[in-house]
Amino acid sequence: MFICRNQPCGAQWHPSEVEVRNEGQGYLFRCPLCGSRNYVERVTAEDGTVAYQQPRA
Ligand SMILES: [Zn+2]
Repeated sequence: MFICRNQPCGAQWHPSEVEVRNEGQGYLFRCPLCGSRNYVERVTAEDGTVAYQQPRA
């Protein structure tokens, strides 16, 4: 799950519920609830599958 880092929002989202984009400063999603930017890391698995992980706070 992704967690919105904006306090006190803190909403949790399944990765399928948000759109990850690169706005020029790295990959991020905008919280659908409050609109805050939340940065994520792009990870490519050995089979080529791309996934995004939220770094630990
Ligand atoms: Zn939020």
